[in-house]
Amino acid sequence: MSGHGSSNGKVAPAAFPPPVDSRKEFIKRGLDAEDELIEVGVVIVGGGTAGLACANRLLQLLGDDAEMMERLGEVPVAVVEKAKTCGGHNLSGAVMRPGPLQELFGEMTREDWRKEGFAFGEVKKEAVYLTPTSKLSLRIPTPPPFKNHGNEVVSVSALARYQQRQAEDAGAYILTETSATQLVVEDGTVVGVRSGDKGRGKDGEPLGNFEPGTDIKAQATVLAEGCWGHLTGAAIKEFDLAEGREPQVWELGVKEVWKVPKPLDRLIHTMGPWPLKIATKYGQIGGTWIYPMKDEKSGDDLVSIGFVVELEYADATTSAHDLLQTFKTHPLVRKILEGGERVAWGAKALPGGGYWSMPKLSMPGALLVGDSGGMVDTMALKGVHHCIKSGMLAAESIYAALGRGSHDFSDYEQVIDESSVGRELWEVRNARQPLQKGLLLGGPLSGIQQISKGRLPGRADWHRNDEKPMFVGNTKDTYVKPDGKYTFDKLSSVFITGNATRDDAPNHIRVRKRVPREIAETWRWMCPAGVYEIPEDGKGGDESGNVDVIVNYTNCVQCGAITAKGGRLTTPEGGDGPLYQLT
Ligand SMILES: Cc1cc2nc3c(=O)[nH]c(=O)nc-3n(C[C@H](O)[C@H](O)[C@H](O)COP(=O)(O)OP(=O)(O)OC[C@H]3O[C@@H](n4cnc5c(N)ncnc54)[C@H](O)[C@@H]3O)c2cc1C
Ligand code: SF4
Repeated sequence: MSGHGSSNGKVAPAAFPPPVDSRKEFIKRGLDAEDELIEVGVVIVGGGTAGLACANRLLQLLGDDAEMMERLGEVPVAVVEKAKTCGGHNLSGAVMRPGPLQELFGEMTREDWRKEGFAFGEVKKEAVYLTPTSKLSLRIPTPPPFKNHGNEVVSVSALARYQQRQAEDAGAYILTETSATQLVVEDGTVVGVRSGDKGRGKDGEPLGNFEPGTDIKAQATVLAEGCWGHLTGAAIKEFDLAEGREPQVWELGVKEVWKVPKPLDRLIHTMGPWPLKIATKYGQIGGTWIYPMKDEKSGDDLVSIGFVVELEYADATTSAHDLLQTFKTHPLVRKILEGGERVAWGAKALPGGGYWSMPKLSMPGALLVGDSGGMVDTMALKGVHHCIKSGMLAAESIYAALGRGSHDFSDYEQVIDESSVGRELWEVRNARQPLQKGLLLGGPLSGIQQISKGRLPGRADWHRNDEKPMFVGNTKDTYVKPDGKYTFDKLSSVFITGNATRDDAPNHIRVRKRVPREIAETWRWMCPAGVYEIPEDGKGGDESGNVDVIVNYTNCVQCGAITAKGGRLTTPEGGDGPLYQLT
């Protein structure tokens, strides 16, 4: 590949890497002077499901150990969260395996979860369909990964709010509206993080309300940033955590919550192929969910509906948002939403590589939990319970290590491997990869892997999403036009997230601003928030086919997908971005 132009009509985003040097920019060598920093016991970056499970478990352990609590100082546990409140940036399907949450809050029943407003009912019935065309649906026997009987439908956004309250009651210091922008490393050990500046203008200049960031020194640092993550990416490079592993791959999901007049009596998954293209050249693999939700507080009947697509596709005009809008016009879906009203929308990427793509989970002074560590089973679309379990196990490893006076958390790696997280991910470690060849070619092999429950030997490999050559295809021609009632455009969708990014904030999206049309179109269609634009006069591009890209970064909902396809999401100013409630 030349790195320019697109003479064969195909170019891969990897040939146009974003202008980022994560080790140089996001690792700070050494702490500021003692009187200029904040000192805490354990700092957790990310107040999502995983980070807050870690905080709560740690505080349970410290609650029974006054001496250790004392040793961790005035602030034994701090959580740094960039959203306005915990939950503000969290989104999931979400049907959850209940075990780890029951273990974490042992005194609560599932009825209590529903009364607290983060759980919406137990799965009693389920159905899986193929959708061969825009009109037809064909019910099939439920494949093993889609069996959800007994699981609970939750909102991770609401669950994070609940976990935040619990952690605060137990003594955690939760710094919301705060981005952790740098990992602080001293003598090869992570010794904390630095929070981001606030009040900078478009070009980085300090404005009237400027507040500089602060070093937060900690005896242990937990990276719970979700899908990949800003500091996680830098840590992986700094400490070679991905050495010998498969590359991470990604999926992007767009979700809506609808208030509906009639309760849905079952959980539904569809496996396509419609509205995706089945021909292998498009490289499209994806599926949908429709989950019933009963809001115990209001009595409302809701449904969670979403479309997930692997970011391995090759047609630049693939758009998870538009695929979801189109999917809603299928008669199977339309009859569920009929007479209803959309009450929430959001988008988020998830790590899809599973077991072989998990980086090493510890480094001197720090650990990775949840999606930061890639702990998602994308065959079953299940990560929430692994996030909770890994957060709890990280807390236990930290507690034990600090008790020994050590900052070596390396036993956590083995603990995860031997836990339900490691066991479940091992069973499906080779099941997803065959699907990269397409549903028709890869489906049977994937099925055999699932039935074997991991007993077949071998290690299937992954290819980086950004190395996939892109072409401008015709998937876009199949998208429905928004009607404002059942189907919506991207900007009105972003609007209902409560997205509040200052118009004069610095740009937090790193991409090249002049790239081949195939790359620019990839970003334009992929971004669920409509951030990337190709100016009208850039239509023809120059001789080599390059066009300009305009980045309307204030629309960004921080889904993270751009990092998989040739750009980089970095941390915006704390407090910016969506304010999800029910996703
Ligand atoms: C579309 C979709 C559907 C899914 N469906 C299901 C499902 O049905 N069932 C299931 O079990 N799993 C599902 N998953 C997977 C599951 O949602 C995730 O595994 C899980 O929610 C991840 O939790 P987490 O705490 O690791 O990360 P997150 O929920 O992403 O939380 C990370 C937090 O860290 C904060 N943060 C990140 N970086 C920084 C920083 N530098 N400074 C400060 N704060 C920071 C973020 O704002 C965020 O609040 C789905 C995922 C997606 C995307
Ligand atoms: S600009 Fe923001 S919302 Fe759009 S793809 Fe990138 S991270 Fe996602």
